[in-house]
Amino acid sequence: MQRYSVITEKNPREIVLLRGQGCRYRRCTFCDYHQDASCDEQANLKLNTEALGRVTGEYGILEVVNSGSFCELDGSTMKAIIAVCASKKISTVHFESHWLYRKFIPALREAFAQVGTQVKMKIGVETFDPVYREETMHKGIKESDPATIAQDFDECCLLFGLPGQTYESMLHDIETGLAHFERICVNIMVENNAPLQPCEEVRQIFTDKIYPLYKNNPRVDILLHNTDFGVGD
Ligand code: SF4
Repeated sequence: MQRYSVITEKNPREIVLLRGQGCRYRRCTFCDYHQDASCDEQANLKLNTEALGRVTGEYGILEVVNSGSFCELDGSTMKAIIAVCASKKISTVHFESHWLYRKFIPALREAFAQVGTQVKMKIGVETFDPVYREETMHKGIKESDPATIAQDFDECCLLFGLPGQTYESMLHDIETGLAHFERICVNIMVENNAPLQPCEEVRQIFTDKIYPLYKNNPRVDILLHNTDFGVGD
């Protein structure tokens, strides 16, 4: 499992994949990556300290992902992240969070502000179609207004390549994301062990007609495969 990488294109940054207690929500029908988790805080800290030890601060930007939300990282690991941000002079750290944890984000921003690091928080919205998101994806965001969803977050993830999605729906999701968030990250669904599986036809529509429109947009990260950032397995 690769737990450290450097992204050199679009918003260059270092990225670490840390291990936490695991996603507490676990209901998204497309997801099986909450399996990278352990209840052993000391074992998590050891693993995470190794990944964080590779951070050089070369771009001053660090992205932290953990197969879940920042709240599911142990307190000892969070202290280690803060220490690395302080010692490597990280000006911006990116985290991910489920909608459920939005009330905890201000405290996180405050904790990192103490060492001069600003937090950018990313939410997995997956789509701005609330019916598809809740009835098919079971995402657990009981809010349909994109502006309201964006209030506590800076960036969002979208998930494409699923049955029922269309050229128009994917374009609408991207444009809505760009209108309400600083940056968006488009993930293309790949086969896994979750109930909801990719649709090859939709994936092809994205690759042929939408990818060329946004591949050079600096505000749009596109992961055609979920290891494109260089972490994971
Ligand atoms: S997508 Fe995120 S919130 Fe949903 S089950 Fe997976 S890890 Fe949990």
